[in-house]
Amino acid sequence: MAVETKKETLGFETEVKHLLHLMIHSLYSNKEIFLRELISNASDAADKLRFEALSNDRLYEGDSELKIRLEYDKEKRTITVIDNGIGMTREEVQEHIGTIAKSGTRQFFESLTGEQAKDSELIGQFGVGFYSSFIVADKVTLTTRKAGADKSEGVRWESTGEGDYTIESVEKAQRGTEIVLHLKESESEFLDGYRIRSIVRKFSDHISLPIVMDKEIMPSMDKDEEGEEAEKAKAPAPVEEETINRASALWTRARQEISEEDYNEFYKHVAHDFQDPLVHVHSKVEGTNEYTLLLYVPSRAPFDLWDRDAKHGVKLYIRKVFITDDAEQLMPRYLRFIRGIIDASSLPLNVSREILQQSKQISTIKSGAVKKVLGMLEGLASNDPEKYAKFWSEFGTVMKEGPIEDHSNKERIAKLLRFASTHADTDKQDVSLENYVSRMKEGQDKIYYVTADSFSAAKNSPHLEIFRKKGIEVLLLSDRIDEWLVSNLSEFDGKHLQSVAKGDLDLDKLDGEEAKKEQEDVNKEFEPVLKQIKDVLADKVSEVRLSHRLTESPACLVADVYGMSLNMERIMKEAGQSMGMGRKPIFEVNPAHPLVARMKNEQDDSRFADLTHILFDQAILSEGGQLDDPAAFVHKLNGLLQGLLH
Ligand code: ADP
Ligand code: MG
Repeated sequence: MAVETKKETLGFETEVKHLLHLMIHSLYSNKEIFLRELISNASDAADKLRFEALSNDRLYEGDSELKIRLEYDKEKRTITVIDNGIGMTREEVQEHIGTIAKSGTRQFFESLTGEQAKDSELIGQFGVGFYSSFIVADKVTLTTRKAGADKSEGVRWESTGEGDYTIESVEKAQRGTEIVLHLKESESEFLDGYRIRSIVRKFSDHISLPIVMDKEIMPSMDKDEEGEEAEKAKAPAPVEEETINRASALWTRARQEISEEDYNEFYKHVAHDFQDPLVHVHSKVEGTNEYTLLLYVPSRAPFDLWDRDAKHGVKLYIRKVFITDDAEQLMPRYLRFIRGIIDASSLPLNVSREILQQSKQISTIKSGAVKKVLGMLEGLASNDPEKYAKFWSEFGTVMKEGPIEDHSNKERIAKLLRFASTHADTDKQDVSLENYVSRMKEGQDKIYYVTADSFSAAKNSPHLEIFRKKGIEVLLLSDRIDEWLVSNLSEFDGKHLQSVAKGDLDLDKLDGEEAKKEQEDVNKEFEPVLKQIKDVLADKVSEVRLSHRLTESPACLVADVYGMSLNMERIMKEAGQSMGMGRKPIFEVNPAHPLVARMKNEQDDSRFADLTHILFDQAILSEGGQLDDPAAFVHKLNGLLQGLLH
C-alpha cells in the first residue's frame, strides 16, 4: 500500500483551526488540564483493549499489564505520554485526531458568538480532549499502533496545531499510543517531575490504571570525600519505575474516603466534560445481584441532548472491567443526561450486546439505578432548591418525558416536575404540583392548566380570565412536550388535571346559590342571540353557549371534554398529522362584554354575521392559532372600522 506509507500533509478542517485558536487562548489560565485529557484518553484506550481482549486475548501480544507511562526530557523540552492500550489504525487517527467529528461539533460552532469571554465558557461545555495538547505544545507527535496489528502498521501523526498535520506509516514495536509534546518556550514549568506528579494526583488519582514514572534520582546529600570525579565514574544506578497515582477505581472506594474534588475529577473523565457536575449519587447495592453505581447530573445540558443518535451516558463495567459506554438498557430515555458508571459484579464478563439486551439482571439494575437517580433528584429538590432550579432549567423538558415513558415511577416523577403558573406570572418553571395543591382554594378539586405554544400566549389566554377573577391558580404550559405530559398524567394526589380550555369548568361549587340564579336569567335573555350565532358559524362549531370563563374578552373557543385542545391540534398539524376527525370546538361568548351585548340588538343581518366571524377569528388568534383566511378577517374588520368614520 504505497499510498498509505507515503507521508501526507493534510489540512485541518476550518472548524478545528478555529477551535484550536480559541482553546489555546481561553484555557490558558488552566493549562495543566492537557495532562488530564491525555491520561483520560490513554485510560479509555486501556479500557477498550481489556474489553476486546475478553474475546481475543492475542490482542495483549503477551503483555497484559496495562499502564500509562509519563516521561519528560529537559534537554529536548518534551513530555511524553505512553500507553499500551488499544491503539489506532491510520483511518482511526485521521478520523479521531485529524478532525473533530464529535457529535455536537456543529451546534458548538453555531453557538459561538465571536466574543472571547462568552466563547471561553462555551468551550468548557464542549470538552477539549486531545487538542488541549496545543495549549502547552507548539508541536505534537503521536505515534500509534493498533493492538493485534503488525508492527509495520504503526502510524505517525504530527502537527504544530496551525494549518495542517502530517500522517505517515512507521514501524512500532509496542502496541498502543505514544504522544510527544514539544513544549513551548514559555512552558518550562512542566519539565519538572514534581509538578507532573502533583498534576496527576490532582486530576487522575481515580483512574484505575497505574500511571508510572521513573523514580527521581535525588542529588546525593552527603558530599562524598571521593569527590565529583569518582562520582561520575560510577555506573548510573538502574532507574526504577514507580506508580504515581492511587490506581484504584474511584467507585470501589468508600464514600467517606472520597473528596468532592475526587468525585468531580472522575466526572470530568467519564463524561468528557470540563465543568463540575451538579450533583452525584454513589451507592453500592448488595444482594444476589450486586452492583455499584456512581451517577452524576451535569451542570449543563450536553449539545446532543436532542440528538436521537447521541451516545448514552452511563458506562457499564463488570468487576472493574469496562464493557460498553453505549448501553441504552441502563437508563431510560428521560434520564439520558445522566453520566457515570455502573459496575455490575454478578454478571459474567463475557457478555455480548445481545445478552445485555435480554438480561434480567440488567433490567433489575436499571430499575434500581432509576430509583437512585430519582432519590438524588428528590434530595436536591428539598435540600438545595437553587441547584434544583438550575437542574430544571437544563433538563426539565427531558424530565417531562418521564411520566409518559416510565409508568412505574409516575408519581415520583410527577413530584419532581416544575411549571410556570399564574401564581408567579414569570416564565420560570418553579411551581411543583405539591405547591399547587397546597394553595388550592376551598372547594377546588382540580388542578387547572392552560397549554399554548409560548409562555406569553399561555399567560394571556382569555381562558384564564375567570380564574384570575376568582384567584384560582392555573399552570401555564408552553413546552411542546406538555400536551403529551398532561395527556399521560391525568391525576396528581387524587386530583384531576383539567385544561381550562376544555369542557365545562364546573366552577359553580366555588360560587354561591345567588350567582347561579342570576346566570339562569342571563341564559334566557341570550338564547336567541346564541341561536343566531350558531346559524352564522354553522358547521365551524359544535355548539354556541354563554361563557363562564371570560370576564374581559368577548369570546373564546373551548374543546369538549374528550376533544383535543387547539394547541394540540396545531402541534399535530405541524407534525404532518391532520386530524380529519377532530371534534369541532365549542364557541363561548361573554354576555358581559359590550360587543356581545350589542349583538342582541343588531338588526342588520350582514353586520351581525361580520361581527360573529370577527369574534370567532379573534378567539382563534388570542390562543395563538392561525386563521384559515386572514384576508377575509382583515376585510371584515376594516368594514366595521369604516363604520366608525361616519
Ligand atoms: P474524547 O476523548 O472526548 O473522545 P479526544 O479529543 O480526547 O475526545 O479524543 C478523540 C478520540 O481520539 C478518542 O475518542 C479516541 O478514539 C482517540 N484517541 C485519543 N487518544 C487515544 C489513545 N491514547 N489511544 C487510542 N485512541 C485515542
Ligand atoms: Mg478524551
